Amino acid sequence: MPLVPMRILLDHAAENGYGVAALNVNNMEQIQAIMMAAQETDSPVIVQASRGARKYSNDSYLRHLMLAAAELNPELPIAMHQDHGNSAETCLSAIEQNFTSVMMDGSLSADGKTPSTYEYNVEVTKQVVDAAHAVGVSVEGELGALGGIEDGHGAGLSEAEVQEHLTNPDQAEQFVAETGVDALAVAIGTSHGAYKFTHKPTGEVLKMDLIEEIHRRLPNTHLVMHGSSSVPQELQDIINKYGGSIKQTYGVPIEEIQRGIKHGVRKVNVDTDNRLAITGAIRKVFTETPEKFDPRDYLKPAREAMAEVCKARMVAFGQAGNAGKIKPRTCKEMVDFYAGK
Ligand SMILES: [Zn+2]
Repeated sequence: MPLVPMRILLDHAAENGYGVAALNVNNMEQIQAIMMAAQETDSPVIVQASRGARKYSNDSYLRHLMLAAAELNPELPIAMHQDHGNSAETCLSAIEQNFTSVMMDGSLSADGKTPSTYEYNVEVTKQVVDAAHAVGVSVEGELGALGGIEDGHGAGLSEAEVQEHLTNPDQAEQFVAETGVDALAVAIGTSHGAYKFTHKPTGEVLKMDLIEEIHRRLPNTHLVMHGSSSVPQELQDIINKYGGSIKQTYGVPIEEIQRGIKHGVRKVNVDTDNRLAITGAIRKVFTETPEKFDPRDYLKPAREAMAEVCKARMVAFGQAGNAGKIKPRTCKEMVDFYAGK
């Protein structure tokens, strides 16, 4: 089936009370790992590419990788999403490249670093919503700011500073009404990258009760958790065992994500866990068999390690077993939906 708008995946997830992992792609092995996991678990798929990924892989390679994934998996609904668009131009160029969903992150200015004003955020997000919905493409917005920096994007806030940039529930209600976004990324204390928390997070730093409050106010808006890798100890240990140097760190526990899913979270962004899995697998091959030099000897186990992480998340978030139940709709059909026909 052709790539589908993200909105139909999130609508199905909302109707059936599950969440969908949004997994980042930069190259062929990563898309293959995601599709292996989705095939095995009959999962709907959200694949996302950051600006950094589009630059690294080149839009043409990326687009054809996505089309290959769709061609080889006709039974699976796949949405292709722009992660953290920094400007309307970035989102519009993604739509030209066949992305079926875009994130306009107006919580930061176009430099992708400086926290912006609420007014700017509404204006730029609304502009993208108008253009995207006119062609049936879904839109995610963001209100509040996350910690850390990923792919050069982020305000670089520390674990303590993020607490001053949490999403305000009053403002969230207003933002959704003013922009018409399909999904809203909320800031609840998480950070991008591996170093999210210095201790296993408690409710003091990971504000799951804020999600519950926002969901009460916006029961029909799909909420998105960014920076939601769990940073499992065993993945840190594998890297360190084979010569790596990851300082002890803590991610978002799976059970907290599951709590979010009970309260309106429909899209869960996971990237770091996949990066850790890939790196650990490659380090293991390099350490145990230093005589090897065929890239397939380490990329194959890397791909398998990432597929295992993807599979585990697909099962934990509840999307497993749902691909076949989703009635696919094209972007074209969504144009009428947004037009209210
Ligand atoms: Zn993010």
